[in-house]
Amino acid sequence: MFTFTVDPDLESPADFGDIVEYTAALDRAGHGTSSVDEVPYTDSWGEFYSAYSPVFDSSGNVAGIIAADFSVEWFEEQLSAQTRSTVISYAVILVLVLSVAAILSLVTVRPFVRMQAQLLEEKVSAESANRAKSDFLANMSHEIRTPINAVLGMNEMIVRESAQGRALSGADVSAARAAFESIGLYARDVESAGHSLLAIVNDILDFSKIESGHMNVVEAPYQLSSVLNDVSNMIVFKARDKALDFIIDVDESLPENLFGDEIRVRQILTNILNNAVKYTEKGSVTMTVRGDSEVRAPGQVIRLKVAVSDTGIGIKPEDLEKLFAKFERLELDRNSTVEGTGLGLAITRHLLKMMDGEISVESEYGKGSVFTVTVPQKIISAEPVGDFQKRFEENVLEKKPYSESFRAPDARILIVDDTKMNLTVAVGLLKNTEMRIDTADGGARSVEMAAERAYDVILMDQRMPEMDGTEALRRIRAAAGSPNEKTPVVCLTADAVAGARERYLADGFSDYITKPIDVRALEKLLLKYLPAEKIEAVPTEDGETPGAVAPAFDGFAALREAGIDTKTGLMYCRDDESFYRSLLAEYAQEAREKTNALHRFLSKEDWPGYAVAVHALKSTSKMIGASELSRCAAEMEKAANEGNSAAIRRSHAALSDLYASVAAAIRSALPEAETYAESGTGVLEFAPAEDDVMEFLPDDP
Ligand code: ADP
Repeated sequence: MFTFTVDPDLESPADFGDIVEYTAALDRAGHGTSSVDEVPYTDSWGEFYSAYSPVFDSSGNVAGIIAADFSVEWFEEQLSAQTRSTVISYAVILVLVLSVAAILSLVTVRPFVRMQAQLLEEKVSAESANRAKSDFLANMSHEIRTPINAVLGMNEMIVRESAQGRALSGADVSAARAAFESIGLYARDVESAGHSLLAIVNDILDFSKIESGHMNVVEAPYQLSSVLNDVSNMIVFKARDKALDFIIDVDESLPENLFGDEIRVRQILTNILNNAVKYTEKGSVTMTVRGDSEVRAPGQVIRLKVAVSDTGIGIKPEDLEKLFAKFERLELDRNSTVEGTGLGLAITRHLLKMMDGEISVESEYGKGSVFTVTVPQKIISAEPVGDFQKRFEENVLEKKPYSESFRAPDARILIVDDTKMNLTVAVGLLKNTEMRIDTADGGARSVEMAAERAYDVILMDQRMPEMDGTEALRRIRAAAGSPNEKTPVVCLTADAVAGARERYLADGFSDYITKPIDVRALEKLLLKYLPAEKIEAVPTEDGETPGAVAPAFDGFAALREAGIDTKTGLMYCRDDESFYRSLLAEYAQEAREKTNALHRFLSKEDWPGYAVAVHALKSTSKMIGASELSRCAAEMEKAANEGNSAAIRRSHAALSDLYASVAAAIRSALPEAETYAESGTGVLEFAPAEDDVMEFLPDDP
């Protein structure tokens, strides 16, 4: 039993000696252990726990107990504060542990992870390099196979048709002529296939040079107009073949004489111009040439800027950055008929980098693209390039298929050049005029020859070693009693710069013509300077003189309505209408047999045979002006070369329908087409080109 001795409650203290309510905690305190009630008690003050602590006497026995009450509320507050601090402590510990773990992992685990990622990356890049290589090989064998197939196929046609031409040459002159004309077309196809092959091989060689670090920039003086002339010359005919306009816009004040790597500049421009034509189906390709406007003085470096814009297929924004990657070709399904290696732009960018230049591209998908290259070149002299566009148009754009415009068997001319090949070319070009042509291989020799005999015209190279053209001219004119004192002397020069003409005329030349010689311009000059009485007009093979108007043929309008471009057809026939008609007649007459041959190849699944047949159809259709049919045939040829049987089956009927309708239109417009069969051109049988030859080619990918 416990009783109160002291109760510090001042307001209502318990009486001394009152019995304290007995609890287990009180009992434990009585036995010497501090303790607290497990159950609180409630009175008018609130709810409380009582805590008890023993008080010991000097001998260690419990002498009394001190008790203290504390409210449940306070206790719980204490308890939750303690819980909070415990939780915080645990959290701090957790953070610390995690940090330590992270640091440990950084130090120990991360390198392993990194190594793994690196291995993965290497694996992916090795795989992609491998894939690029396989794609490259597949693409190359395809790209190379196509022109080789064309060469072999066309050669086969040449062999057959020349036999046919030979057989017919006595009997049916116009049929024989048609056969030889198509041989010419096939030969032209062989030539273009050869050029494609060469371009591919050159790309590959260039690329491997770049990869192995052996590509160098070789700088030398060059003429801007000569580079522009060459690239324009190359592209204008390609553009014309696709009925695209080729527009040239060159700043006249740009310096003509520059110092740099002419060959590489030419290659870069060729590349982007070729792409513009390749990836444009209609509209135009424009080449704009500019340079820093303030920089014109010799010794300064001008940033030459050439922009090539087209109205072609354009490039998707997400594809723009892929453009310059090697072997990268965009939208292969869409561009499957376009030849290319996917190396051109990679090479271009690399070449520009080597020359401190750059390339940029802007494009709108479906509308067209602009590729702009900028390249710094040193200026050698301030002489301006002048009106390049006009000169170019005069020289090239007016060209028509050539046939000599006059004969002059009584005329005698002298050609002077120190390069033998140039003499051979000039003599060859003028052969058909039947003039008597003497040649001299240098200035001194020309002076000797001019002393011996009178010439009607002298063509004199300007730049020759020892005695140049100007000096030779001076001596010929000055020689006492010279038979050539008054003979017109025309300067032959590679110098196409603006102002050159005036310079040569001032030197005493009668005129001037640039090399490489354009035979039309040369004939025009000769007509101007040869004595009129020695000139004979050239009769055409039908006995008509040039310029005589052929009787109008009213069937052409019907042909045009049927989609045949008679203008183009006539152009290919050198505007010889009767020749064109004989070709059309032969074309229509052969159509049935050739269609049968196509059906046969299809049913035998003989794709090489199909390719050769459809290739011939492409050329002959192009020649008569049936351009839509020619285009369809080209697509089918591509499909056949690829062995794409699904594509052939899909479009074969449309092709033969179109072929039949073109032939029918010709038959109804041309009375002779119906009767042509009787004159007997023989049936030209298409068969697969030598299978064994085809087979050694790699399989298509
Ligand atoms: P390719 O030999 O295929 O033409 P390039 O490296 O010259 O290779 O060009 C890479 C790709 O860029 C082409 O396959 C084509 O998809 C795209 N390309 C290049 N020039 C043009 C352009 N003027 N218009 C549209 N696409 C172009």
